[in-house]
Amino acid sequence: MRVRAGVATDIGRVRERNEDAYLVEAPLFAVADGMGGHLGGEVASRLAVETLERRFRQRTGDLRDQVLEANRMVFERSISDRSVAGMGTTLTALLIGDGGRVRLIHIGDSRAYLLRSGELRLLTEDHTLVRRMVQEGQITHQEAAVHPQRNILTRVLGVEPIVEPDEGELGLLAGDRLLLCTDGLTGMVGEDTIGQILSSGLGPPETAEELVRRANAAGGVDNTTVIVLDAEEGDDADDPPARSSSTAPEAPERARPAGGTGRVRLGIRRAGPSRGPEPVQWIRIALWVAAIVALVLVGLIATRSYLDRQWYVGVANGHVAVYRGIPTRLGGFDLHHVVQETSIPAADAERLATWRDLDQGITASDLPSALAIVEQIRADVASMPASGGGGP
Ligand code: MN
Repeated sequence: MRVRAGVATDIGRVRERNEDAYLVEAPLFAVADGMGGHLGGEVASRLAVETLERRFRQRTGDLRDQVLEANRMVFERSISDRSVAGMGTTLTALLIGDGGRVRLIHIGDSRAYLLRSGELRLLTEDHTLVRRMVQEGQITHQEAAVHPQRNILTRVLGVEPIVEPDEGELGLLAGDRLLLCTDGLTGMVGEDTIGQILSSGLGPPETAEELVRRANAAGGVDNTTVIVLDAEEGDDADDPPARSSSTAPEAPERARPAGGTGRVRLGIRRAGPSRGPEPVQWIRIALWVAAIVALVLVGLIATRSYLDRQWYVGVANGHVAVYRGIPTRLGGFDLHHVVQETSIPAADAERLATWRDLDQGITASDLPSALAIVEQIRADVASMPASGGGGP
């Protein structure tokens, strides 16, 4: 299988920067659409694509490993460089292997399409909030197209230590045309028009230019990047074999003659949604639990040491008593305990105006002060008019 490629990218009519990036490094092709304030978007998309390319050249792992490495690189930069904190990018990449077997990997709302026998098929699924809302029947496709939150992505490369990309495969046939594009195209130009332009008989470079031109003519509110790939019969000496395919599972899909009855498997396999949290999420949960436990322990120790330094004089078993702590209950626990219970009847003390509020506790700064208060109460009770009758 021989592949001819055309690529075009444009800043559009509104944006101040082009935050899209692309990779045309046969047999590997990718588009990326970066996001994140200031320089973040540009950095994220370029770093993702450069990492993918470097790892691919080094033959490090397979396409999935290379994309996960790109994710790691973008994430690590975003946490080590405050000027690009929180940046991320979409990434839609395809690798054309031996016998026209295509591996596709995808994160975000850039897209891959296949034009075969005049029919345009979307190979990827947008990782967007509105896409999810459509699936759940909350809004229609028409509403999604103009929804104010249509740009919110549910999966982005580089914002978490691990990302779960969608992966897919298809067998390429001679005459197939593939399109990779960022949402600057699909947000501006309808699929019918995209299909017409792809079918118009122009070569890949001219088609790519025309698609971008149409996005700009329709308003060009975003950066637009497109890669057009034509599959042709024959070998291309320039295309190195994709060695990474040797590690891929299952036998390659055989290219079938155009017009044959056999249907190749298309589309993207969603990453298992039923799986539990990723390992990294578990680590994060464990760290949170540890942090909360530590916080509670520190709080308990601080509370305890505070309470140990508090003293007051109150009532215990009807007698004046010295307490340690504060005269309060909290969550069913007494925050105090009796240190010394005297023989002075509390009722006698409370009959005196000075000690009327004794049962609510009279705060002392330390034990000697508390004992001094007790002695004062004892003296006052002793000098009371006879009716009291209390004494030591
Ligand atoms: Mn965009």
